[in-house]
Amino acid sequence: MNSKTVKFGGSSLADADQFRKVKAIIEADPARRYVVPSAPGKRYSGDTKITDMLYTCQQLAAAGADFSDVLGKIRDRYLEIAKALELSFDPTDELDRIAFRLKEGATKDFAASRGEYLNGLLLSNYLGFPFVDAADVVRFNENGTLLMSETMLAMREVLGKLENAVIPGFYGAGPSGEIITFSRGGSDITGSLVARAVRAEIYENWTDVSGVLVADPRIVPDAAVINTITYEELRELSYMGATVLHEDAIFPVRAAGIPINIRNTNEPSAPGTLIVADDSADSDVQTGYTITGIAGKKGFCAINIQKAMMNAELGFCRKVLAVLEEMGISFEHMPSGIDTMSIILAEEAIKGKEKTVLSKIRKAVSPDSCEIEHGISLLAVVGRGMRRTRGTAARIFAALAHARINVKMIDQGSSELNIIIGLLEGDFEEAVRRIYDMFVKSTIGEDAD
Ligand code: ADP
Ligand code: ASP
Ligand code: MG
Repeated sequence: MNSKTVKFGGSSLADADQFRKVKAIIEADPARRYVVPSAPGKRYSGDTKITDMLYTCQQLAAAGADFSDVLGKIRDRYLEIAKALELSFDPTDELDRIAFRLKEGATKDFAASRGEYLNGLLLSNYLGFPFVDAADVVRFNENGTLLMSETMLAMREVLGKLENAVIPGFYGAGPSGEIITFSRGGSDITGSLVARAVRAEIYENWTDVSGVLVADPRIVPDAAVINTITYEELRELSYMGATVLHEDAIFPVRAAGIPINIRNTNEPSAPGTLIVADDSADSDVQTGYTITGIAGKKGFCAINIQKAMMNAELGFCRKVLAVLEEMGISFEHMPSGIDTMSIILAEEAIKGKEKTVLSKIRKAVSPDSCEIEHGISLLAVVGRGMRRTRGTAARIFAALAHARINVKMIDQGSSELNIIIGLLEGDFEEAVRRIYDMFVKSTIGEDAD
C-alpha cells in the first residue's frame, strides 16, 4: 500500500487545538501512515518551547540546583493537552523517571529528547497508532554521526510490520543505548529517514507557514510562496538560514527520489511547496521570478590580510588556510584581490581563538596587515533560473545601491545557483527587503534568454 510520511513541527503540536488539526489532517488521507512529531513548541510569541525548558532543567540539574518548577511547567503543558483531548495520558511517572536521571547527571541530549518522546506517546494515544521509540530505530556511532544503513535496517524491520506508527523526531541512540539528538530542528531529519525507510511516495513536512517563502516572513511579512524548488536550492537556502527545513533533512529522501512537500497545519488546503530533483522541477510552475529565494544569516567576521606582492608569493593562501585547519576552524568564503585576501567565517567558529589565529597567520606569512572585522552578515540569492537569465547580479546590486547599502563581498558559485553577498549586519534586513522587491514586485531589467 502507498504511504506518506508526515512530520509535524512544534507549533503544529503546541496545544490541544493544534493536536485536533493534526488528527484531522491524518484522517483525511489513509496514506498518511507514519507520523513524526516534534515536542510542543510556542503557542504564542514569547512562549517557551518544551525543548528549551528541558535544556534548562538539565542545566539546573548539572549545577546542583532545583529544577522542579520548570519540570512542573512541562508536566502541566502535556496534561493540559491530554485533558482537553479527553485522554487518560499522564506524563507524571515518566517525568519522575526523567527527574531522577537528571539528578544522576543525564546529558543535554537525553534531556532535550524527552520532549519528543513524551509528545510521541501523547500523539500515539490520541491517534490510536502504535508508538515506536526512536531510540530503537535511529542509530548513531560513538561520535554522534548517524549510521544510515543501520537506521534503515532497524526502521524497516520495525515499521514493515506496522500499518501505521508514531515515531518521535529529533533523537536516536548510540552504540550503548545512550540517547543522542540531531542539532536543533532535527525532527525534520527523522521524518526524512522514516520516509526513506518505508519508501514513502511523499514526505509531508507540516509547519506553520504555507510553504517555503521567497524570503523569511519575519523580514518580509507578505513574502510569496515558492511552488516548486529543487533539493539543491533548498539546501542552499536552509544552509543560509531559511530555517523552515533542517538542511540535513534533504539528503535521505533526495537519494531515494522522494519529494518533500512543505505544508501548513493551519491552512491544510494550501498546496504548499514541493521540493523535487532538478530535472523534474518544471520552471513554468514556479512562482515566475528569476530568483527562487533569499536567505541569510548574521554573526560572521572577516580576517582581512594585506601584503604587497601577495599574488607573486607561492603558497600564500595555503599557509593561511593551514593555520585555520590546525586550529580546527572552518570558513565560509575567501574573496581575494591582488594584494589582499579575506576569509569570512562564523564568529562562533573563531570565538576565543582570535589572538592565536592572528599571531599564527603573522608568523606564517608576515603580512603588512592582518585584522579581524566583526559584524558581518551573509545574504544568499538562490535560483536555478539565474543560469539562463542575464542581468541578475546587476539587478541585485542596483537594488542595494538604491538603498545606499555597501557590499563588502560577492561570491558566485560555479553552479550559478546562488550569489552570496557580504554586508554589515545593520544593513541585512533592508537588503533582503530591497532584493525581494526588485525581483518579486518589479520586473525592471529582466532579460531571459
Ligand atoms: P517547525 O516547528 O514546524 O519545525 P520551524 O520554526 O522550524 O517550524 O520553521 C518554520 C519557520 O521558519 C517559519 O515560521 C518561519 O518563521 C521560518 N522561516 C525562515 N525563513 C523562511 C522561509 N524562507 N520560508 C518559510 N519560513 C521561513
Ligand atoms: N524540538 C527540537 C527543537 O526545538 C527539534 C525539532 O523541533 O525539530 O529543536
Ligand atoms: Mg523546524
